[in-house]
Amino acid sequence: MGLLANLVIAILVVAFLILIAFFGRLPALRHTPVAWLHRLIWIRIPRAVLAADQRLTSGRLTSSISRFFTYMLYDKHPTILVFFLLLLTVGEILYLPGAWPRLSRFNQVFGFISIVLPYWFLYKAAYTDPGIISSANHARYMSHYPYDFTLFHPGQVCKTCLLLKPARSKHCSVCKRCVARMDHHCVFINNCVGYANQHYFLLLLLTTAWLTTYGAVLGFNLVRDSAIAKTGNDNFALFKRASMPWQHYFLLLMIGIQADVGVGSVTLLTTMTTPMVWALLGYHVYLIWCGTTTNESMKWSDWKIEMDEGCAFKRSLHPPPPLERHRDHAVEPAWTRWPVEAMQILVRTEDGHPPHKESPYGFGEWERVWSLREVENLYDIGFWDNLTDIMIKEYSFRAEGRGGLRDDDEFAGNEDDVEAYGSRERLRGGSGGSGASGSRDVTRDVRRAHKERARRSKKPNIPTVSGIVNAAT
Ligand SMILES: [Zn+2]
Ligand SMILES: [Zn+2]
Repeated sequence: MGLLANLVIAILVVAFLILIAFFGRLPALRHTPVAWLHRLIWIRIPRAVLAADQRLTSGRLTSSISRFFTYMLYDKHPTILVFFLLLLTVGEILYLPGAWPRLSRFNQVFGFISIVLPYWFLYKAAYTDPGIISSANHARYMSHYPYDFTLFHPGQVCKTCLLLKPARSKHCSVCKRCVARMDHHCVFINNCVGYANQHYFLLLLLTTAWLTTYGAVLGFNLVRDSAIAKTGNDNFALFKRASMPWQHYFLLLMIGIQADVGVGSVTLLTTMTTPMVWALLGYHVYLIWCGTTTNESMKWSDWKIEMDEGCAFKRSLHPPPPLERHRDHAVEPAWTRWPVEAMQILVRTEDGHPPHKESPYGFGEWERVWSLREVENLYDIGFWDNLTDIMIKEYSFRAEGRGGLRDDDEFAGNEDDVEAYGSRERLRGGSGGSGASGSRDVTRDVRRAHKERARRSKKPNIPTVSGIVNAAT
């Protein structure tokens, strides 16, 4: 019973610390003990240690500790990946010897598949190129998404990689490289989650959520069987019967767990972690439904603040027909596989006054924007198409290539295209490239764009819990 009690206490303490670390800063919990404990653990105790160290070692101890934490938090290393692997593997080593002989053939086969899949998708998510942008593949990544003139404007150059940033890309400060459709850098896989590996990341979440759920359900059944076998009380069920007092229920549960501490403790651990894994998966499905990424959801949050302060303005990107917008092909792709293109431009001003009418992009009067609902999200083309974009690489959503995969060779290593967007050398010299990249069909399906936009206008652009989940992964 001693080992069991220690295990249960350890699990409860870890779960409580995670709760305080993740939720202690939520405004809703501001005047609760959770916020107080958060301040104590994350602010007051570190300050006291800092003050003591200043007196005793002139701050040498804390500076080496802070270097260690900076390395742990901001450098690329597999510590959390190894921790995640150990958690999976040690859990299975504790759980399986007691559980395996008692499982039916069906559960043995199904259980084996459920155990193998998270390892496979962890490997694929961690070791697949997430979409690192280089001069060789730059033209291809430029052709994936048009600039929306809201979150992503043409002409931005990454100061480190010295390449034009394709729409939806981001420079990862941990990996020191630009990644296409960057979602976030995930410490659990020690890799960025981006255009080329996000499907593996989602499948990792799905299979892990399934494994912990399946393990918890099977484990509770085994615990119940043990409790019934030991006590002969076949009134005991997983969901407490109304006739049974709580004390009685917990006693039988403890007897069942004690019969096999390995199965019992892992069952408790999976019961506690399962909601977190499903919540993380649910959050990423929500992002897909919104047609956004973790990175973009934070940009939307910034726009929300600008709008609340009355500093955001929009106007039409296109001149009145029959005129057509001039595209600078030195900084904008001539063709993208995306079915819609930006219709408006959104900008902010420091002083809250509308920008000058003669600004380089857009036509007509500037209109102040007060709400995210007044702005379109170009990257949301409906849940199933958003999901297809993640699950099938290079899927072409345009009418001329609809339903098919584009030939990779058409983009890869096309020197003309790289030249057109400004090669590494040209950008270093301070001048952009010139010339259009071929004569690809630039006809836009404007009608479809309008239809999609009308349908999407009811959907929120901004996920509200982005900060918490981003901090967690
Ligand atoms: Zn970069
Ligand atoms: Zn990264």
